[in-house]
Amino acid sequence: PKQAYTRTKPHLNIGTMGHVDHGKTTLTAAITKVLSDRGTGSFVPFDRIDKAPEEAARGITITIAHVEYETDTRHYAHVDMPGHADYVKNMITGAAQLDGAILVVSALDGVMPQTAEHVLLARQVGVRHLVVALNKADAGDDELTDLVELEVRELLTAQGYPGDLLPVVRVSGLGALNGEPRWTAAIEALLDAVDTYVPVPERYLDAPFLLPVENVLTITGRGTVVTGAVERGTVRVGDRVAVLGADAETVVTGLETFGKPMAEAQAGDNVALLLRGVPRDAVRRGHVVAQPGSVTPRSGFTAEVYLLSAAEGGRRTAVATGYRPQFYLRTADVVGDIALVDGAVALPGDTVTLRVELGHPVPLEVGLGFAVREGGRTVGAGTVTAVVE
Ligand code: GDP
Ligand code: MG
Repeated sequence: PKQAYTRTKPHLNIGTMGHVDHGKTTLTAAITKVLSDRGTGSFVPFDRIDKAPEEAARGITITIAHVEYETDTRHYAHVDMPGHADYVKNMITGAAQLDGAILVVSALDGVMPQTAEHVLLARQVGVRHLVVALNKADAGDDELTDLVELEVRELLTAQGYPGDLLPVVRVSGLGALNGEPRWTAAIEALLDAVDTYVPVPERYLDAPFLLPVENVLTITGRGTVVTGAVERGTVRVGDRVAVLGADAETVVTGLETFGKPMAEAQAGDNVALLLRGVPRDAVRRGHVVAQPGSVTPRSGFTAEVYLLSAAEGGRRTAVATGYRPQFYLRTADVVGDIALVDGAVALPGDTVTLRVELGHPVPLEVGLGFAVREGGRTVGAGTVTAVVE
């Protein structure tokens, strides 16, 4: 039998962010190498991280690679996303629910467009704690690296992070992967910074169980499995759950995290749930598994929405009543009709109150964050302020 997951340390979800080629995947592999040498993780080579499984469901392709490891004080699930589009999609939809992130900046290149966009995205989705890895320090010179550090701290301050205070660690993912002691020590310093700077988030363990479905798979002979991060509450094998979207009620017959069976999954855990008697085709990404009766899908709501400016990648033209963008709520992607509550038009850069009618109902609640997308790009970020019963 597979070894069970035992919860001995707090679990946190983190990930690497930053411009393409600055070394996110190399650093991810290096972290697993350093920790496997220490005996608290398994080495995941670069190739395995960079060939993330791709799941195409209803035209949404998500590409996200998870690795897990432990430090002395924490258990981490770490996501590395291969392309810029994956960051936008997965961060905004909550598929990557990060409690903190490592911003990777090449000491040779400094702040680049995607560095700035990922910081903006992190701020929008509420990732409050960032640690900076100034990577490729093996190849840079100290003076240039000092300038890059200054530039990164300024960017973070401008985006509302404590740029002067947060940890910036000079590392070489490549050097650590090659086993060079100096760079192995630098990775340890980076992990210490993450351990101490990113707090254990408050988890809503007493709330009714809820998990937004990220992926659906079939295990031959066992049934349908859904995966995702538990948003709140706890779930145990044998619990009854509702699958909202599939209109089904069933029982959880198996529970795993990173291939290890577990007795109870909690808010914040990345898990796979085996569901009794639910056909594979009935469940999709975007559905929600929840304690029966605890949530009801709705399609009408009002919201405060920030329309990204053109400089932030948003629209160039105004929005008016009748506009029909896509709404990304948790892992669901739903078309919606909007009506402006005040005034006839809203411009990029404005914060507006909208009335939204979704194409189909999804579980909604006050405070739920979402992204507004159009033609594959994010044009707005909002929060539900009232649900229409
Ligand atoms: P990603 O796109 O951010 O995931 O970047 P990758 O991890 O794929 O790395 C991009 C390139 O930078 C590859 O050729 C790496 O070998 C190289 N690279 C990554 N980390 C380092 C480093 O610490 N030092 C040096 N010199 N090169 C690195
Ligand atoms: Mg990569």
